[in-house]
Amino acid sequence: MQNKLEIGILGATGMVGQRFIQLLENHPWFQITWLAASDRSSGKVYEDAAKWRLDTPCPERIAKMIISPADPAGAPKIIFAALDTDIARDLEPLFASAGCAVVSNSSAFRMHPNVPLVIPEVNAEHLHLIEDQTWRKQSGGYIVTNPNCSAIGLVMALKPIQERFGIEQIFVTTMQAVSGAGYPGVPSMDILGNVVPFIKNEEQKMEEETLKLLGHLKGDSIVPLAARMSAHCNRVPVEDGHTESVSIKLSRPATREELLSAWADFHPLQGQNLPTAPAQPVEWVAAEDRPQPRLDKNRGRGMAATVGRLRPCGLLDWKFTVLSHNTIRGAAGAAIVNAELLLSLGKLEPLAVAAAAQA
Ligand code: NAP
Repeated sequence: MQNKLEIGILGATGMVGQRFIQLLENHPWFQITWLAASDRSSGKVYEDAAKWRLDTPCPERIAKMIISPADPAGAPKIIFAALDTDIARDLEPLFASAGCAVVSNSSAFRMHPNVPLVIPEVNAEHLHLIEDQTWRKQSGGYIVTNPNCSAIGLVMALKPIQERFGIEQIFVTTMQAVSGAGYPGVPSMDILGNVVPFIKNEEQKMEEETLKLLGHLKGDSIVPLAARMSAHCNRVPVEDGHTESVSIKLSRPATREELLSAWADFHPLQGQNLPTAPAQPVEWVAAEDRPQPRLDKNRGRGMAATVGRLRPCGLLDWKFTVLSHNTIRGAAGAAIVNAELLLSLGKLEPLAVAAAAQA
């Protein structure tokens, strides 16, 4: 691509907003030209407004940018949104109706019947739903979402198995990192040396999003996967990386070798050259005490789901462990690869070109 497309970040000062900045620093297709956050930050220089929490320095160019108000006037037409859900519910439609492609991380519209909830490796065809959105028909704008940070790793591990053997029941227990709650998140005195067996709305999100993601497009709607599912969600004293213990009941019997092959052969985006997509979306780790967040969260540059400990389950058929990086594959990286897919399908550039022609 000769000219990079201009993109903006809504919620640029938060945990996920910072990941967007880090992951987009040298992106071959996108360039950050606009940052927005709350009224508390608007008008300030980025480095004064944001408490940078990542282990690479904030890029100099971004550190000196002024934070804009969260208003579509003056914003680019491609928006990565990392807003709290209640705020997203009000703001994302404003941007979509102003002709922006809103690539969102929040849960506000994930389960809306016209809004695609997408993992490119899993259900790219669900993007068809954007054509039915009122914003799309009126202004060209639309909303596309990526899943909850704990649903994404699970679904990446389940998809290759579902394709080959079918899945009838899913039982999952999560051990979720503190960065999943944003910054400053859970108070240190609540989480150090402790486990909190409650994350508000998380179990419901995991259950309904998993079945939507693994569902199929029928006409203009998604038929969720007809499987029974139960999720237990826990917050644990880990900085980054959600670990999940999973048991599944299959529709057709599978051997251990067949399940390992399903994961190893899973390359649905091969040949599409999306810059942020991992070459091996589901990585198998053979050691009996892996995956672990400290050792495995950055596989595939933080974009792979790592699976291990596959063994027979005494209640259902098989059980295993899956790990994924919650703010990379579970948030900013997921949105970036969604935008790369949208661009490759011709759903982004026309918005930017039309805006440039009007300017
Ligand atoms: P966060 O650290 O609390 O950041 C929230 C961002 O929203 C900040 O930039 C904040 O700006 C901005 N904001 C707050 N009120 C606003 C308003 N009225 N108008 C405009 N901007 C406003 O949260 P986060 O962890 O980055 O999460 C962002 C979203 O991504 C949430 O919906 C979350 O559920 C979702 N998500 C998070 C993760 C994760 O692992 N953390 C994973 C997947 C999805 P100020 O700095 O000015 O307050």
